[in-house]
Amino acid sequence: KEEARILREGIIDGIGAGLRKILESIRETAAREGVKAYLVGGIVRDIILGIKNEDIDIVVEGNGIEFAKSLCETLGGRKVVSHEKFKTAVVVVDDELKIDVATSRVEYYEYPTSLPTVEYGSLREDMFRRDFTINSLALEVDNNRFGDLVDYFNGYRDIRDKKIRILHNLSFIEDPTRIIRAFRFASRYGFDIAEETERLLQDSIENGFLKRVSWPRVKTELKIILGDRRPHRALEYLEKYGILKTIHPKISYSSRMKSQIEKTADSKKLLDTLGLEKWMVNFLVVLENLNSDELDLVFNKFGFSGSFRKKYHLGSTKRKKILEELSIARKNSRIYDILKEVTNEIIVLLYLEGNRELKENIEKYVYTLRDAECMVGGRDLIEMGEAPGDHFKDILKDVFYFQLDNPGSGREELLEILEEKFRKN
Ligand code: ATP
Repeated sequence: KEEARILREGIIDGIGAGLRKILESIRETAAREGVKAYLVGGIVRDIILGIKNEDIDIVVEGNGIEFAKSLCETLGGRKVVSHEKFKTAVVVVDDELKIDVATSRVEYYEYPTSLPTVEYGSLREDMFRRDFTINSLALEVDNNRFGDLVDYFNGYRDIRDKKIRILHNLSFIEDPTRIIRAFRFASRYGFDIAEETERLLQDSIENGFLKRVSWPRVKTELKIILGDRRPHRALEYLEKYGILKTIHPKISYSSRMKSQIEKTADSKKLLDTLGLEKWMVNFLVVLENLNSDELDLVFNKFGFSGSFRKKYHLGSTKRKKILEELSIARKNSRIYDILKEVTNEIIVLLYLEGNRELKENIEKYVYTLRDAECMVGGRDLIEMGEAPGDHFKDILKDVFYFQLDNPGSGREELLEILEEKFRKN
């Protein structure tokens, strides 16, 4: 009892003020509706680990949809989106806060990876459906027992011992995506995969169960792995178990890729400025040794658009040349000229492999040159008496490049240069 009290107090201490307030509203609503409510899933694991997690998942023993409507009122939320068939609802409080509410239930898998048939059941049964013990914890959000851990499968012990463990022997057969999820959690938290779990995982792979997982699901899991702060161990597992080879036989995770991926983590500002997601850059790093036909096979599997593929291939084929030219480019206009038509993904890949000079040139391009606008335009040429035509482009380009190379130059100076060029022309 004493242990439970200490644990409970530790957990309550680990709940931040924002979440605490929401849990109070959930507690109030549950009391009013006469149902039991639990905080479940990843967020409970992360509270114990002291890691921020904003995905609030609630399981209600009772009518989950009615509960969600009532909670929405308590929180002054915007709306409830419910799914009668699955007895689930999302309380949309505002743009930032959404709360998932489920009704505790049992899912019968009619055959592996099919959509489950839903029936009501207990919280225990709901927790039993989870992938790993560390994700099978529930936290009471009840009047008297607020903060009590409901731990049917020793999830707390496994968090403490840093173990990824499935709940039953058929887990990977029931849903082979869990194989990839095991790598994700092991990598993210620096946990080990429990011995028996790893053996069953290996058996499932050897028996070809992964082939049953659709590419969109693989993509979803890979996106999370490659977007995580520490994807290396997960990638090592994916390599070790031949999963990268199922994406394409020529993919092999190398130490060079590892170091590029480490650099992606330090290039957040550059990625944000270019509007690129970390997972995508890391994915392209992993695909680095594929030629364009091989890349196309992978891009197809993962549903990348035709226009992306075209731009990517174009940059990809010229990559070596761009790298060489950019390493020796000194003038702003030259940097601009080399990079202006290169797609953002390639720019980042060049950045990851480049030396200091090249990195500086890319930073200069991304943060300043890329958005520069020419201070003079076609209208100025027309005012000077020139008839509009194709030649405008070349004249204006020369002036624009002068502007880039002489950052202090003002419009007056540029107009003079424009006029001079126009006369010569
Ligand atoms: P993250 O912090 O990356 O979102 P998470 O644990 O919240 O991690 P999700 O993929 O969002 O992971 O899943 C939420 C919860 O749903 C998990 O904690 C797990 O209990 C359960 N879950 C998700 N996918 C599966 C699966 N394939 N099999 C069983 N349970 C699953």
